[in-house]
Amino acid sequence: MEGAPAHNGLAGRIAMVTGGGSGIGRACAQALAAAGAKVHVVDRDGEAAERVAGEVGGWAHVVDLADAAAIETLPAEVDILVNNAGLQYVAPLHEFPPDRFTLIQQVMVTAPFLLIRRCVPHMYARGWGRIVNISSAHGLRASAYKVAYVTAKHGLEGLSKVAAVEGAPHGVTSNCVNPGYVRTPLVENQIAAQAQAHGLPPEEVVEKILLDRSPVKRLIEPAEVAELVRWLCGPHAASLTGASVPLDGGWTAN
Ligand code: NAD
Repeated sequence: MEGAPAHNGLAGRIAMVTGGGSGIGRACAQALAAAGAKVHVVDRDGEAAERVAGEVGGWAHVVDLADAAAIETLPAEVDILVNNAGLQYVAPLHEFPPDRFTLIQQVMVTAPFLLIRRCVPHMYARGWGRIVNISSAHGLRASAYKVAYVTAKHGLEGLSKVAAVEGAPHGVTSNCVNPGYVRTPLVENQIAAQAQAHGLPPEEVVEKILLDRSPVKRLIEPAEVAELVRWLCGPHAASLTGASVPLDGGWTAN
Protein backbone atom coordinates (compact mmCIF):
# COMPACT_ATOMS: atom_id res chain seq x y z
CA MET A 1 0.00 0.00 0.00
CA GLU A 2 1.45 3.35 -1.04
CA GLY A 3 3.27 5.22 1.68
CA ALA A 4 2.53 2.56 4.33
CA PRO A 5 5.26 1.11 6.48
CA ALA A 6 6.41 -2.45 5.71
CA HIS A 7 4.38 -3.95 8.57
CA ASN A 8 0.85 -3.15 9.71
CA GLY A 9 1.82 -0.91 12.63
CA LEU A 10 2.33 2.83 12.77
CA ALA A 11 6.12 2.97 13.11
CA GLY A 12 7.49 6.07 11.42
CA ARG A 13 4.16 7.90 11.68
CA ILE A 14 3.77 11.19 13.54
CA ALA A 15 0.44 11.62 15.31
CA MET A 16 -1.23 14.57 17.02
CA VAL A 17 -3.99 14.07 19.58
CA THR A 18 -5.88 17.10 20.88
CA GLY A 19 -7.21 16.91 24.41
CA GLY A 20 -4.59 14.21 24.84
CA GLY A 21 -4.16 14.90 28.55
CA SER A 22 -7.29 13.08 29.72
CA GLY A 23 -9.93 10.46 29.00
CA ILE A 24 -10.35 9.35 25.40
CA GLY A 25 -7.46 11.51 24.13
CA ARG A 26 -5.02 9.98 26.59
CA ALA A 27 -6.16 6.48 25.61
CA CYS A 28 -5.70 7.39 21.92
CA ALA A 29 -2.17 8.70 22.56
CA GLN A 30 -1.35 5.44 24.36
CA ALA A 31 -2.84 3.21 21.63
CA LEU A 32 -1.14 5.07 18.75
CA ALA A 33 2.21 5.07 20.59
CA ALA A 34 1.84 1.35 21.31
CA ALA A 35 1.39 0.81 17.56
CA GLY A 36 4.67 2.64 16.92
CA ALA A 37 3.67 6.27 16.25
CA LYS A 38 5.37 9.26 17.87
CA VAL A 39 2.65 11.41 19.41
CA HIS A 40 2.19 15.16 19.90
CA VAL A 41 -0.06 15.52 22.95
CA VAL A 42 -1.99 18.81 22.81
CA ASP A 43 -3.95 20.06 25.80
CA ARG A 44 -4.67 23.33 27.59
CA ASP A 45 -3.87 21.50 30.84
CA GLY A 46 -0.06 21.62 30.79
CA GLU A 47 0.49 19.19 33.64
CA ALA A 48 -1.76 16.58 32.04
CA ALA A 49 -0.16 17.06 28.62
CA GLU A 50 3.33 16.63 30.09
CA ARG A 51 2.28 13.54 32.04
CA VAL A 52 0.78 11.77 29.00
CA ALA A 53 3.66 12.83 26.72
CA GLY A 54 5.98 11.27 29.31
CA GLU A 55 3.90 8.06 29.40
CA VAL A 56 3.99 7.64 25.62
CA GLY A 57 7.44 9.04 24.87
CA GLY A 58 5.94 11.90 22.86
CA TRP A 59 5.86 15.70 22.94
CA ALA A 60 3.61 17.94 25.04
CA HIS A 61 2.05 21.14 23.67
CA VAL A 62 0.17 23.43 26.00
CA VAL A 63 -2.36 25.18 23.78
CA ASP A 64 -5.85 26.55 24.30
CA LEU A 65 -7.66 25.40 21.17
CA ALA A 66 -10.11 28.29 21.48
CA ASP A 67 -7.16 30.50 20.50
CA ALA A 68 -6.71 30.39 16.71
CA ALA A 69 -3.31 32.13 16.90
CA ALA A 70 -1.99 29.50 19.36
CA ILE A 71 -3.00 26.72 16.95
CA GLU A 72 -0.53 28.23 14.46
CA THR A 73 2.31 27.32 16.86
CA LEU A 74 1.55 23.58 16.61
CA PRO A 75 3.54 21.34 14.24
CA ALA A 76 2.05 20.87 10.77
CA GLU A 77 4.14 17.78 9.91
CA VAL A 78 1.56 15.30 11.14
CA ASP A 79 0.52 12.01 9.48
CA ILE A 80 -2.31 11.16 11.89
CA LEU A 81 -4.56 13.86 13.35
CA VAL A 82 -7.02 12.96 16.10
CA ASN A 83 -9.40 15.84 16.79
CA ASN A 84 -10.57 14.91 20.25
CA ALA A 85 -10.60 17.91 22.63
CA GLY A 86 -14.06 18.80 23.80
CA LEU A 87 -16.20 20.10 26.59
CA GLN A 88 -19.83 19.97 27.62
CA TYR A 89 -22.29 22.51 29.02
CA VAL A 90 -25.86 21.64 29.93
CA ALA A 91 -28.71 24.18 30.00
CA PRO A 92 -32.09 24.68 28.31
CA LEU A 93 -31.76 26.42 24.94
CA HIS A 94 -33.56 29.59 26.07
CA GLU A 95 -31.15 29.95 29.00
CA PHE A 96 -27.97 28.76 27.24
CA PRO A 97 -25.16 31.36 27.66
CA PRO A 98 -24.16 32.62 24.17
CA ASP A 99 -20.46 32.86 25.13
CA ARG A 100 -20.46 29.13 26.13
CA PHE A 101 -22.10 28.28 22.80
CA THR A 102 -19.39 30.20 20.91
CA LEU A 103 -16.56 28.65 22.95
CA ILE A 104 -17.84 25.12 22.28
CA GLN A 105 -18.01 25.80 18.51
CA GLN A 106 -14.46 27.25 18.63
CA VAL A 107 -12.93 24.25 20.43
CA MET A 108 -14.98 21.50 18.78
CA VAL A 109 -15.47 22.77 15.18
CA THR A 110 -13.17 25.71 14.38
CA ALA A 111 -10.06 24.16 15.96
CA PRO A 112 -10.50 20.83 14.10
CA PHE A 113 -10.99 22.84 10.87
CA LEU A 114 -7.82 24.89 11.51
CA LEU A 115 -5.81 21.77 12.37
CA ILE A 116 -7.00 19.80 9.34
CA ARG A 117 -6.28 22.84 7.14
CA ARG A 118 -2.81 23.09 8.70
CA CYS A 119 -1.87 19.39 8.52
CA VAL A 120 -3.22 18.18 5.16
CA PRO A 121 -0.51 19.78 2.99
CA HIS A 122 2.05 17.48 4.70
CA MET A 123 -0.27 14.47 4.34
CA TYR A 124 -0.93 15.27 0.67
CA ALA A 125 2.82 15.62 0.01
CA ARG A 126 3.41 12.15 1.49
CA GLY A 127 0.37 10.58 -0.21
CA TRP A 128 -0.87 9.23 3.11
CA GLY A 129 -2.79 10.56 6.07
CA ARG A 130 -5.41 9.71 8.66
CA ILE A 131 -7.84 12.15 10.24
CA VAL A 132 -10.01 10.80 13.04
CA ASN A 133 -12.60 13.10 14.55
CA ILE A 134 -13.98 12.12 17.93
CA SER A 135 -17.62 12.97 17.40
CA SER A 136 -20.36 11.40 19.52
CA ALA A 137 -23.72 9.69 19.39
CA HIS A 138 -24.70 13.37 19.70
CA GLY A 139 -23.20 13.90 16.22
CA LEU A 140 -26.07 11.72 14.97
CA ARG A 141 -28.83 12.37 17.52
CA ALA A 142 -30.00 15.23 19.72
CA SER A 143 -30.63 15.36 23.45
CA ALA A 144 -32.29 18.14 25.41
CA TYR A 145 -30.15 20.79 27.11
CA LYS A 146 -27.01 20.12 25.01
CA VAL A 147 -27.56 22.62 22.20
CA ALA A 148 -23.92 23.75 21.84
CA TYR A 149 -22.49 20.22 22.01
CA VAL A 150 -25.03 18.68 19.60
CA THR A 151 -24.60 21.59 17.16
CA ALA A 152 -20.80 21.31 17.32
CA LYS A 153 -20.74 17.53 16.83
CA HIS A 154 -23.08 17.78 13.83
CA GLY A 155 -20.72 20.46 12.42
CA LEU A 156 -17.74 18.17 12.97
CA GLU A 157 -19.53 15.46 10.98
CA GLY A 158 -19.75 17.81 7.96
CA LEU A 159 -16.13 18.87 8.31
CA SER A 160 -15.02 15.24 8.44
CA LYS A 161 -16.92 14.37 5.25
CA VAL A 162 -15.46 17.29 3.28
CA ALA A 163 -11.96 16.31 4.46
CA ALA A 164 -12.68 12.75 3.27
CA VAL A 165 -13.85 13.88 -0.17
CA GLU A 166 -10.91 16.27 -0.71
CA GLY A 167 -8.35 13.92 0.87
CA ALA A 168 -9.25 10.82 -1.13
CA PRO A 169 -7.05 11.56 -4.18
CA HIS A 170 -4.13 12.08 -1.80
CA GLY A 171 -4.40 8.87 0.23
CA VAL A 172 -5.91 10.72 3.19
CA THR A 173 -8.94 9.31 5.00
CA SER A 174 -11.18 11.20 7.42
CA ASN A 175 -13.71 9.52 9.69
CA CYS A 176 -15.77 10.20 12.77
CA VAL A 177 -15.95 7.90 15.76
CA ASN A 178 -19.27 8.24 17.58
CA PRO A 179 -19.08 7.00 21.16
CA GLY A 180 -21.97 6.73 23.58
CA TYR A 181 -21.15 7.45 27.22
CA VAL A 182 -17.49 6.75 27.98
CA ARG A 183 -16.05 6.52 31.49
CA THR A 184 -14.01 9.78 31.56
CA PRO A 185 -13.89 12.89 33.77
CA LEU A 186 -16.28 14.63 31.34
CA VAL A 187 -18.98 12.03 32.02
CA GLU A 188 -18.16 11.50 35.69
CA ASN A 189 -18.88 15.23 36.21
CA GLN A 190 -22.24 14.84 34.46
CA ILE A 191 -23.12 11.80 36.57
CA ALA A 192 -22.37 13.71 39.76
CA ALA A 193 -24.43 16.72 38.61
CA GLN A 194 -27.41 14.56 37.56
CA ALA A 195 -27.26 12.52 40.77
CA GLN A 196 -27.60 15.75 42.70
CA ALA A 197 -30.32 17.18 40.44
CA HIS A 198 -32.46 14.00 40.53
CA GLY A 199 -31.62 12.92 44.10
CA LEU A 200 -30.49 9.51 42.80
CA PRO A 201 -27.40 7.39 43.55
CA PRO A 202 -24.77 7.62 40.74
CA GLU A 203 -25.30 3.97 39.60
CA GLU A 204 -28.98 4.70 38.98
CA VAL A 205 -28.12 7.84 37.01
CA VAL A 206 -25.92 5.73 34.73
CA GLU A 207 -28.49 2.98 34.16
CA LYS A 208 -31.77 4.92 34.18
CA ILE A 209 -30.78 8.29 32.72
CA LEU A 210 -27.54 8.12 30.70
CA LEU A 211 -28.04 4.60 29.35
CA ASP A 212 -31.82 4.78 29.07
CA ARG A 213 -31.77 4.27 25.27
CA SER A 214 -28.66 2.10 25.21
CA PRO A 215 -29.27 -1.65 24.93
CA VAL A 216 -25.80 -2.26 26.43
CA LYS A 217 -26.12 -1.07 30.02
CA ARG A 218 -22.52 -0.18 30.85
CA LEU A 219 -20.23 2.77 30.26
CA ILE A 220 -17.72 2.38 27.42
CA GLU A 221 -14.04 2.40 28.42
CA PRO A 222 -11.66 4.97 26.82
CA ALA A 223 -9.42 2.11 25.63
CA GLU A 224 -12.30 0.70 23.54
CA VAL A 225 -12.59 4.03 21.67
CA ALA A 226 -8.81 4.24 21.27
CA GLU A 227 -8.66 0.76 19.76
CA LEU A 228 -11.14 1.80 17.04
CA VAL A 229 -9.14 4.98 16.39
CA ARG A 230 -5.93 2.94 16.06
CA TRP A 231 -7.70 0.54 13.69
CA LEU A 232 -8.91 3.45 11.51
CA CYS A 233 -5.27 4.57 11.21
CA GLY A 234 -4.08 1.21 9.91
CA PRO A 235 -3.33 0.53 6.24
CA HIS A 236 -6.27 -1.94 5.98
CA ALA A 237 -8.68 0.99 6.62
CA ALA A 238 -7.67 2.89 3.47
CA SER A 239 -11.12 2.52 1.86
CA LEU A 240 -13.07 3.45 4.98
CA THR A 241 -13.52 7.20 4.69
CA GLY A 242 -16.22 9.80 5.17
CA ALA A 243 -17.88 7.42 7.62
CA SER A 244 -19.21 7.80 11.13
CA VAL A 245 -18.69 4.70 13.21
CA PRO A 246 -21.00 4.33 16.22
CA LEU A 247 -19.40 2.85 19.33
CA ASP A 248 -22.42 3.36 21.49
CA GLY A 249 -23.72 0.06 22.85
CA GLY A 250 -26.52 0.15 20.26
CA TRP A 251 -27.90 3.55 21.37
CA THR A 252 -28.33 5.00 17.85
CA ALA A 253 -29.83 1.72 16.60
CA ASN A 254 -32.53 1.82 19.27
P1 NAD B 1 -12.12 14.79 29.13
O1 NAD B 1 -12.75 15.96 29.80
O2 NAD B 1 -11.68 13.62 29.94
O3 NAD B 1 -10.90 15.26 28.24
C1 NAD B 1 -10.99 16.36 27.38
C2 NAD B 1 -9.61 16.97 27.27
O4 NAD B 1 -9.72 18.09 26.36
C3 NAD B 1 -9.09 17.52 28.60
O5 NAD B 1 -7.77 17.08 28.84
C4 NAD B 1 -9.17 19.03 28.41
O6 NAD B 1 -8.16 19.74 29.13
C5 NAD B 1 -9.01 19.16 26.91
N1 NAD B 1 -9.54 20.42 26.44
C6 NAD B 1 -10.79 20.91 26.65
N2 NAD B 1 -10.88 22.13 26.14
C7 NAD B 1 -9.68 22.43 25.58
C8 NAD B 1 -9.16 23.57 24.93
N3 NAD B 1 -9.87 24.69 24.77
N4 NAD B 1 -7.89 23.52 24.47
C9 NAD B 1 -7.13 22.42 24.68
N5 NAD B 1 -7.56 21.32 25.31
C10 NAD B 1 -8.83 21.34 25.76
O7 NAD B 1 -13.20 14.36 28.04
P2 NAD B 1 -13.39 13.01 27.18
O8 NAD B 1 -14.64 12.38 27.70
O9 NAD B 1 -12.17 12.22 27.07
O10 NAD B 1 -13.80 13.65 25.79
C11 NAD B 1 -12.94 13.65 24.67
C12 NAD B 1 -13.78 13.80 23.41
O11 NAD B 1 -14.66 12.69 23.32
C13 NAD B 1 -14.64 15.06 23.37
O12 NAD B 1 -14.66 15.60 22.08
C14 NAD B 1 -16.02 14.53 23.72
O13 NAD B 1 -17.04 15.32 23.18
C15 NAD B 1 -15.96 13.16 23.06
N6 NAD B 1 -16.94 12.22 23.58
C16 NAD B 1 -16.91 11.87 24.90
C17 NAD B 1 -17.86 10.97 25.35
C18 NAD B 1 -17.90 10.53 26.77
O14 NAD B 1 -18.89 9.90 27.15
N7 NAD B 1 -16.89 10.79 27.59
C19 NAD B 1 -18.84 10.47 24.49
C20 NAD B 1 -18.82 10.84 23.16
C21 NAD B 1 -17.87 11.74 22.71
